[in-house]
Order: sequence, then C-alpha cells, then structure tokens
Amino acid sequence: MTLVIRGAGIAGLVTAHELVNRGFSVEVHERAGAVGHGASHFAGGMLAPYCEREAAPDLVLQIGLRGLDWWRKKMPADVISKGTLVLAQPRDMPELSRFATRTQGYEWVDAEAIAALEPDLAGRFHKGLFFADEAHLDPRRAMRRLYEDLEKRGTVFRLSCDKTMTPSALHGTGTGAGTGTGDGGHGNAGNCIIDCTGAAAIGALPGLRGVRGEMLYLHTPDITLSRPVRLLHPRHPLYVVPRGNDLFMLGATMIEAADSGPIAVRSLMELLNMAFAVHPAFGEARVTETGTGIRPALVDNVPRVVETPEGLAVAGMYRHGFLLAPAMAQEVADRLEQRHTNRERKFA
Ligand SMILES: Cc1cc2nc3c(=O)[nH]c(=O)nc-3n(C[C@H](O)[C@H](O)[C@H](O)COP(=O)(O)OP(=O)(O)OC[C@H]3O[C@@H](n4cnc5c(N)ncnc54)[C@H](O)[C@@H]3O)c2cc1C
Repeated sequence: MTLVIRGAGIAGLVTAHELVNRGFSVEVHERAGAVGHGASHFAGGMLAPYCEREAAPDLVLQIGLRGLDWWRKKMPADVISKGTLVLAQPRDMPELSRFATRTQGYEWVDAEAIAALEPDLAGRFHKGLFFADEAHLDPRRAMRRLYEDLEKRGTVFRLSCDKTMTPSALHGTGTGAGTGTGDGGHGNAGNCIIDCTGAAAIGALPGLRGVRGEMLYLHTPDITLSRPVRLLHPRHPLYVVPRGNDLFMLGATMIEAADSGPIAVRSLMELLNMAFAVHPAFGEARVTETGTGIRPALVDNVPRVVETPEGLAVAGMYRHGFLLAPAMAQEVADRLEQRHTNRERKFA
C-alpha cells in the first residue's frame, strides 16, 4: 500500500520518516514548490519540553521528552544540547517565580551563573532559571536534512501539488484517540491519505483554529549567545534563538487569528524592544527577515492524530510542532500497523 502524506512541513516530513522506517511506501504531496513551507519555516526550533510545560498539560512534557530523544538520535550533529536560559528584568521577578511553579527540570541561577553560561549577558540579569536538559536546532536545516534523507531512500515528493481535504472530511471527523471512523474502509484500498497540511486544514477539521506567530531574524556580530534565551514579561515575552554566523531568530507573537499577512508594526516594535532589553547590542543589529506563521491549534492546544474519511490527519501542532512531531508520527504509524494487522486477520 502506498500512503500519501499531504503537506511537507515538519509534521509531514517526520511522519514520512517514521513510516518509511517501518517499511511503508510513502509519497509526499506538497502545495508549495519546496518542502518546509508553512508555519515550520518560521519556527524557533526550540526543543523545550520543560519550558513548554509552563503553559501546557503534563502530556506535552511527557511526549515532548520522547520527541527530544528522537531528535537527538536522528540528528546528533544538528541538535544543540545547551539548555535554555529563562530570565526576567527585576520588575518582572514575579513572572519568573510563576514560571518556576508551573514546571520542573530547572535550577535557579544567580548573576554569576548567568555570566558563566552566557558571558555577553554578564551584569545584566540577577536571577534566572536554567533548563539544562533542553536543546534547539535550525528548523530549516533540519527539514532539508529530512527531505534529502527521504529522497535518498526513494520517497517520491510531488511538489506544487495542491489537493485539499475532501469536503466529506467535514463530517465524522473526531478529535482524540479512539474517535472517528475506524478502519471503515478508508485507507485500505491503497490510497490512505495522511493530512499534514497544518493551518490549511482549518475549516475541514472541526475545532482547528489558527494562532498567528510573528518573528524576525537579526544579524549582529556584537553579541554571542550559546542557547535560547527567554525573557519573561507580563504582556510581551520574547525568546532569542542563536542560529550561528551572527544570526538570531526572535519570536514570537501569539495572536488568535489565522491571518498570515506581514508582521504588524506594533509586534515589530514590541519584539525589538524586548531584544534591546536582552542586550543593547541588538540595537545595532540588522533586521534581515520578518515573517508570520500560522500555528494550527485545537481547543486545548494539544495536537492529535484524528481519523478522516480519507485516512488520518496530524492536527493542531500549535507551538510544539518540532518537539511533538515524532510522537504524532509514531502514533500514525502505530495506527496504520494496527489497521494492517486487523485487515490480515479479517482475510485470514
Ligand atoms: C513563530 C513561530 C515559532 C515557533 N517556534 C517553535 C519552536 O521553537 N519549537 C516547536 O516545536 N514549534 C515551534 N513552532 C510551532 C511549529 O512551527 C508548528 O507547530 C509546526 O510548524 C506545524 O507544522 P505542520 O507541519 O503541522 O504545519 P506547517 O508547517 O504549516 O506545514 C503544512 C505544509 O502543508 C502544505 N500544504 C498546505 N495545504 C496543502 C495542500 N492542500 N496540499 C499539499 N500541501 C499543502 C504547506 O505548504 C506546508 O508546507 C513555532 C511556530 C511559529 C509560527
């Protein structure tokens, strides 16, 4: 049976990988002319299950830890395991305490420890949280590697291929394990489609909505960071992810809208103000790119594999696409293997 994966963002690429590893024949259809478009193109690439736990249920931490492990094994040379530093300005110390109470996996660090971790931040912050076991990667490079690896192994990619989910997907689609249409004849005729189209499935998958995330890239040789730095703030939290070669990704807004239009002036000002608060050297940096991604999200902001009349969909990766794609891919593969076993039993 050849499986079609629709959408070559991070969900589609990791799912393709998992399925190929388990012996399935896979074809990937992507609407854009290249892989890795959509929200995945704009991601920070933070693999931060403990930090994400601050605003997510424990499940996200548990499957996120599995995701982190997957990435470390899959791309040891690309995953930078230097942890995450979470900071706040003196007036925002309650934010830091609140963050600490909502998660685990950190140690409190003082000014001296902060300076040891990030020498360029010496004297700028008195207190922080250090999550030593977190990591980050360059999302664009990671997706390129997955694509090249899959192509080498014979996976066919059909680019500029745009077929949306059938209107019938509007009916009978469940969210969550055990709901939906079951084997029901879908996917057993050699044309099971796994929808990984992210926010493009809004309107076809019940309950899916978009959360706009604006970001930018700055270039400056005047500051060096080794790991993602998150600066807490009651209204405008920010993170800076070093990409190497004097490049920094800054993110990200969280706006309840599926509007992928260019970054708003207000967002740009807020992100740049916060960057300046991390280090004034960012004031001299060059803005090399701005962008907007639409995070696909379900009502509880936890992703799921859902059944559709066409097959399956990986839905609602929200702000955890890179962290949680491996767990979602494993679930897709488990379900397809189960269907295969059921079918063999039926015809035995
Ligand atoms: C600013 C920002 C920062 C983020 N930072 C992080 C982070 O640090 N760590 C993390 O884990 N997550 C992060 N995320 C979240 C992560 O980016 C998303 O969860 C993830 O990209 C969603 O992946 P996806 O594959 O589901 O969707 P997408 O990346 O949107 O991919 C969908 C793909 O499907 C294609 N497509 C759409 N319609 C069709 C069609 N009809 N036929 C064929 N192809 C189609 C699109 O072109 C696209 O390539 C961030 C998101 C944003 C916006």
